[in-house]
Amino acid sequence: MTVLADRFGRIATDLRVSLTDRCNLRCTYCMPAEGLAWMPQPEQLTDDEVSRLVRIAVEQLGVTEVRFTGGEPLIRRGLVGIIAAAAKLTPKPKLSVTSNGIGLDRIAISLKEAGLDRVNVSLDTLDPARFHTLTRRDRHSDVLAGLRAAAEAGLTPVKINTVLMRGVNDDEAPALLRFALDHGYQLRFIEQMPLDAQHQWDRHVMVTAEEILAALEPFALQPDDVSRGTAPAETWLIPGYTDAAGQPARVGVIASVTRPFCGDCDRTRLTADGQVRNCLFATDESDLRKLLRGGATDDRIAEAWRAAMWGKRAGHGIDDPTFLQPARPMSAIGG
Ligand code: SF4
Repeated sequence: MTVLADRFGRIATDLRVSLTDRCNLRCTYCMPAEGLAWMPQPEQLTDDEVSRLVRIAVEQLGVTEVRFTGGEPLIRRGLVGIIAAAAKLTPKPKLSVTSNGIGLDRIAISLKEAGLDRVNVSLDTLDPARFHTLTRRDRHSDVLAGLRAAAEAGLTPVKINTVLMRGVNDDEAPALLRFALDHGYQLRFIEQMPLDAQHQWDRHVMVTAEEILAALEPFALQPDDVSRGTAPAETWLIPGYTDAAGQPARVGVIASVTRPFCGDCDRTRLTADGQVRNCLFATDESDLRKLLRGGATDDRIAEAWRAAMWGKRAGHGIDDPTFLQPARPMSAIGG
């Protein structure tokens, strides 16, 4: 067993796998209404290719957590099979999915039975009309049904990811937290990042961690007594509340822009077309698909993956004047 180390001494043990660049929503901060030029099918890794790379990562490179993302991973037909294959690996990695929740009510039990541990579901508003404005689709009730089904299937803790935008939904922070507390979900607010397909991200529109915490003042949040470790979310205790497991309730803020956490980063990413990204904001990638389809051995692929991670930069560099937004949009990278 070797590890995915970089020259700053960080070790990547958390693998994010984007299973598709396609999505059934059109969130305004992610892609244009007409969608994008989707990845041609032959360029996308097959289910077996995905499973082989996940196996190499777990069995040879020390990966202990695998999160399946997209686009929207639930639209990938082979999702249950891919999860079942990952669940059979030794040691079994922690398995999670980041989803927009649409269709989760139909598949939650199968995902749980296949070995999935938990889910993160995106929800930016409690208002169906505003949901339509934000996503250009009328699927708000489907997302709520997906959340319920995930909790009932035991895919817990069910975490909600929320992106706030100034003048759009930033007035809903307290209501979203109350909703999560009332249903036993764990809420994470995420600062909007410069990863949109339109390259229109504007720091002044982004709602900062400081502003989010100010909006949550009525909850009298307390510093968390559990160390953050390598987790992206900074968390706070919410006095007087417990979560679905009877533990003190927490709320999280993922402040990639204003409070970067790159120094402790343990993430490595695989795109749906078989490229390794050593950082969410990487501007170059390493091609494992070519090796896979060229008959390379597992050892050769593992070696290439290690080399890709060794070159990881110290941080995302968003504050650097030289910062370049990656060409690949968030919808083709995944959370
Ligand atoms: S921006 Fe890159 S280095 Fe920083 S935490 Fe995210 S993936 Fe890690």
